Amino acid sequence: MNEPVVITEPAAPAAVAAAPRPSLVGLDRDGLAAALRTLDIPEKAVRMRVSQLWNWLYVRGVSDFDDMTSISKDLRARLKESFGVARPEIVAEQASVDGTRKWLIRFAAREPGERPAEVETVYIPEEGRGTLCVSSQVGCTLTCSFCHTGTQKLVRNLTAEEIVAQILVARDRLGDWPGATPPEGAFVPTDGGRFVSNIVMMGMGEPLYNFDNVKTALLIASDGDGLGLSKRRITLSTSGVVPMIERAGAEIGVMLAISLHAVRDELRNELVPLNKHYPIAALMNACRNYPGLSNAKRITFEYVMLKGVNDSLDDARQLVRLLRGIPAKINLIPFNPWPGSKYECSDWETIERFAEAVNKAGYASPIRSPRGRDILAACGQLKSESERLRARERLALAAMIGSDG
Ligand code: SAH
Ligand code: SF4
Repeated sequence: MNEPVVITEPAAPAAVAAAPRPSLVGLDRDGLAAALRTLDIPEKAVRMRVSQLWNWLYVRGVSDFDDMTSISKDLRARLKESFGVARPEIVAEQASVDGTRKWLIRFAAREPGERPAEVETVYIPEEGRGTLCVSSQVGCTLTCSFCHTGTQKLVRNLTAEEIVAQILVARDRLGDWPGATPPEGAFVPTDGGRFVSNIVMMGMGEPLYNFDNVKTALLIASDGDGLGLSKRRITLSTSGVVPMIERAGAEIGVMLAISLHAVRDELRNELVPLNKHYPIAALMNACRNYPGLSNAKRITFEYVMLKGVNDSLDDARQLVRLLRGIPAKINLIPFNPWPGSKYECSDWETIERFAEAVNKAGYASPIRSPRGRDILAACGQLKSESERLRARERLALAAMIGSDG
């Protein structure tokens, strides 16, 4: 493959869609039990029914009640009358030359008259692991100056169902369920592992501004009897919503990533305007107190490399000073350009010098290799339907990133 492939072309969104039946997807065990009780299932059978549904939904990945063959036909029919388990619509699917896949997913209106919501989800296959980058909101209320998503106004928070559905859709499309066949051209894991082995909440939106739904969804994703992703393989990235960081650690318990990007308040106020509410010192304090923090469970600090803005050796030294005493690793992210962005990515030598300085101080400092740039799937490039790129902008982008993808 030399060209990125558009597998499905976007279709125009329906103006007003009817509200679907409530979905069972995204319900935790208590939620499933409550749903079953509305059908007058005998109390002594509820637990068993919950575990059957759990298995069909999250282990087998079925999206039709008729496939739940361990449940009687009669009960299946009653479930079908009241609830749904169908997947959201995949509006567009693109495959990058590097194997990255991006889906534009449309969620039906939740009530009559509401417009459907669209988000992007990205799958990044790597040696030994496959990472799914999941969105938590449609758009984002925070306006980080280097982020494409930040230029799209928030439409709404995603529900737990919609967050979980992104994982289910990815597993469908990758053939990542027991007995399923992977699609042609898929990068099949060579170690016998799952296609989706890791999740990063690094898609569109600020996950800690949608705490309850993100929590429910991630607890479902990490349930050992269900989707089964270890909490160590799930990372929640925040731009620094300080008051929610402790709860994230205590109640969700996944790995934490902080979008730091600057070591001085003056600059961080500009790059990540949320810094005006929660300045660097307060953020570092919250990190120090992150529940479960240890050398085996470090916080990842993300640092986007912006030419002439935050990439000096002095910045690197200050970064090291700032992180003193926090079990940390630093992820350097080459800036991904988007049409209209006012920054440039630092030169490669500058990034390497920065990485070396941080590394010498004892911190792992991997440079994140940009993936899926040709399909605008890299960090900070996501943005959905309402403002999809025009052909002219696509050409401008192609010129910006050259032919290396
Ligand atoms: N809202 C959350 C999670 C989503 S963004 C957060 O900000 O942490 C995921 C990561 O991509 C963040 O570290 C973000 O700062 C970074 N990012 C945003 N725009 C980028 C761009 N154009 N190039 C590189 N990284 C970017
Ligand atoms: Fe929102 Fe994160 Fe983008 Fe900032 S970097 S605008 S918080 S998605």
